[in-house]
Amino acid sequence: MKELMISAYAKINLTLDVLRKRPDGYHDVEMIMQEIDLHDQMILREKDDKGIEIRCDHPLVPEDESNLAYRAAALLMEEVGIDRGIQIEIIKNIPVAAGLAGGSTNGAAVLMGLNKLWQLGFSKEELMNFGARLGADVPFCILGGTALASGIGTDLKSISPLPEMELILVKPEISVSTKEIYSNYSPELINKRPDLNRMLNAIDSRDCQGIKKNLVNVFEDITMHHYPKVAEVKKVMEDVGLHPVLMSGSGPTLFAIVDDEDTASRYAEILNKKKIGEVIRTRTRSDSSL
Ligand code: ATP
Repeated sequence: MKELMISAYAKINLTLDVLRKRPDGYHDVEMIMQEIDLHDQMILREKDDKGIEIRCDHPLVPEDESNLAYRAAALLMEEVGIDRGIQIEIIKNIPVAAGLAGGSTNGAAVLMGLNKLWQLGFSKEELMNFGARLGADVPFCILGGTALASGIGTDLKSISPLPEMELILVKPEISVSTKEIYSNYSPELINKRPDLNRMLNAIDSRDCQGIKKNLVNVFEDITMHHYPKVAEVKKVMEDVGLHPVLMSGSGPTLFAIVDDEDTASRYAEILNKKKIGEVIRTRTRSDSSL
């Protein structure tokens, strides 16, 4: 019986803009996505009896067919006509319902992992197409690195990698539903929109100050309106000296870029004492590997 260990990496959004609501109910977005080092550990194990079995150590993660890892395995098995048994164990480090693509990256890892375990021979692009059928963030989790996403988030273009940057993340003790935030999106609620070209230039010229200056997410206003706790946590992070602080995805996780590891551990210690949520130290990643 074969088994494979995979790391499933989280993402943050460096910019996020909603361009329009489409007739089909989805929204067209424009965002720069960044893979980060924070990851779940996953183990894919072949088993004698047929079917897909999910095991996860986190109480908020479903172990049934609604788990994205389950759906990814089912999709791939149906596509290739394989009827085998697989157990998928997920050791969760990525906070759940946090704006960090925790479920999507598990689905992406299963597509990549089973492709390798069963030598299916799909290209990255083909796996990304399968991923788009599972969720808008799944293709990026397969691509990794730094990318510009458009359409509903599944049209991706890799851009120059960021210089490796230390990050402090805080996940307030609330869960935010991405669906709810999208359904509450309304252009009048937005105060600030990203300047995409400025951000792309800053990334291209590895200008850390320019990158920091151009971090903007239009969902911040919406999420903070519905969940004032997120604004409170952002304020605490700013009050201790972190600047700028940005929300990732539809939230509630907030992040800040810091200069080096020493600064990161100093801020982590200060924020842990404030008891505002889960404090995580991580960094950006410039490549994606299994
Ligand atoms: P995104 O940034 O893509 O919107 P998120 O980080 O906000 O995602 P997830 O961690 O993916 O949110 O969790 C959203 C919901 O998805 C959870 O409440 C959970 O019920 C469900 N879910 C399904 N599969 C998984 C999985 N493998 N890991 C975590 N949550 C999962």
